[in-house]
Amino acid sequence: MAVIEQIIAGNWKMNLTLTQGQGFIDTLLTRLKGKELSRKLLLAPNFTLLSALAQRCAGSGIGLVAQNCAFQAAGAFTGETSVAMLKDVGAEYVLVGHSERRQIFGERDDLLRQKVNAVVSGGLIPIFCVGESLDQRQGGEAFDVVISQLRCGLAELPDSQLIVAYEPVWAIGTGRTATPEDARSMHLHIREFLVSQFSWGERVPILYGGSAKPENAAELLAQPEVNGLLVGGASLNPESFLQIAMA
Ligand code: PEP
Repeated sequence: MAVIEQIIAGNWKMNLTLTQGQGFIDTLLTRLKGKELSRKLLLAPNFTLLSALAQRCAGSGIGLVAQNCAFQAAGAFTGETSVAMLKDVGAEYVLVGHSERRQIFGERDDLLRQKVNAVVSGGLIPIFCVGESLDQRQGGEAFDVVISQLRCGLAELPDSQLIVAYEPVWAIGTGRTATPEDARSMHLHIREFLVSQFSWGERVPILYGGSAKPENAAELLAQPEVNGLLVGGASLNPESFLQIAMA
């Protein structure tokens, strides 16, 4: 099995103003001084914070993630933000297919495939999110749903860097977390799929997301199949984000 550096990624969603985000980074960098972290830290602030946070994080090893992007490269697409624009202000990764984008904004598999391709051709790294709903899990469809999302979203992916985030929809923002065994078995399934599709599938980090917090992070991260966490609510506070990063 390839050795994969664990990743702790914070998704701030539509939270934290510029001043609050800068305060977060200042606290985080102060707390990190003199500490050797074995995990890579990523943060996904709102677009409006990217440029300022990229300057603040320069040289720290913390990577910045955009929460979304346009599938087009440029043109008459009012309100959209291209991958080139995100790269220009310091983003290195882009979340694609977060369940809130799928559910609230109706983003479907074929659009998400175009976004993945736009991210890769724009020189950034996609963090492709997949996950089943509660009904789908209870109906025994969880594996099929997740593999179908991967199959569609990654159908045209060239040899590239990629991160996958498994986020069961019923666990996002609900306080319900998948058991380590649920996470483990789905991650194994995802790994099998990635290895069957890509010669580099062994090296793709697979993160778990869904109500990860300081109290459950160590147990989730102890699963060898879990290569890190995508954290929503608990990433809004630098102290809890750091507790997860050091769990
Ligand atoms: C997320 O938004 O990706 C997420 C996992 O949220 P939460 O940790 O709040 O469930």
